[in-house]
Amino acid sequence: MIKPKEIVILSGKGGTGKTSFASSLAVIAEKEAVIADCDVDAANMHIVLKPKNIIKESFSSGYLPVIDNDKCIKCNRCVDVCRFDALHFNDRLLIVDSINCEGCGYCQKVCNYGAITSVVPQRGEYYLSMSKMGSYFSHAKLGIGEDNSGKLVAKVKAEAKKIAERSNTRFIIVDGAPGIGCPVVSSLSGAHLVVLVAEPTMSGFHDLKRVLEVIKRFNPQICCVINKHNINSKVAEEIERYIISNNISLLDKIEFDPLFAKAMMESKSVVEVSDLYKNKFINYWEKIKYRLDN
Ligand code: SF4
Ligand code: SF4
Repeated sequence: MIKPKEIVILSGKGGTGKTSFASSLAVIAEKEAVIADCDVDAANMHIVLKPKNIIKESFSSGYLPVIDNDKCIKCNRCVDVCRFDALHFNDRLLIVDSINCEGCGYCQKVCNYGAITSVVPQRGEYYLSMSKMGSYFSHAKLGIGEDNSGKLVAKVKAEAKKIAERSNTRFIIVDGAPGIGCPVVSSLSGAHLVVLVAEPTMSGFHDLKRVLEVIKRFNPQICCVINKHNINSKVAEEIERYIISNNISLLDKIEFDPLFAKAMMESKSVVEVSDLYKNKFINYWEKIKYRLDN
């Protein structure tokens, strides 16, 4: 059985062009890669990949207290111990505010009357699909305001890995989440190579440095693309110096081009509307595979 190699696209912040890059690479890779959209808080690769669902299932995680008001004697103990202000009496009925509730379970522990039980709430939906290129596509949708996205990312990745092994697919392309939080850590776990998509702004540079510190703990190979480099050449040069001093190879510098946005508005990747970018991304894909195979 093939052990697939994972390529994770990260940026440290939103708006750098990470998903445009990941989608274009996915289109070029065709059936050579299983695709995983781990940006579950704002999943949007499906817009380009136009998936047909094979499996759709609900995703449940965490803890939510359920009150039996017939058993509750209104002693207020649970309200007093809740640090998150998630329990309130309303017309003599005890109510749980599911947005504030952090699922610590302390309220259930202190109730001596068996008036609090719990459920594992549904947080979102998971899908395994076939993309328009004929590759498997593992993705999900987190419910509005729901947390536990790290666990949903772990599910998206685990399912991508399973289907890659079963279908003898050599690579997994992962669109990681922005930032440096739990979803990013879940995206990175098991990564063989990370492509950092950098944006030449001061906030982009700052967030790139932060995410790099997280990436280094996982010890994958790392390369970097400086996207829209000509919008601020000075910062782009600083980023280039920084990544070279950190022994990270520069995959390419891409100029700002309205064609990326135009392609997205047509629900396409840029490689589907331009031979220039098609050839560039074929080159990136070959370089990435070479690095992983050698
Ligand atoms: S601790 Fe139990 S009995 Fe007391 S208010 Fe809470 S739910 Fe009601
Ligand atoms: S589970 Fe924790 S956060 Fe939620 S209501 Fe109970 S005590 Fe408050």
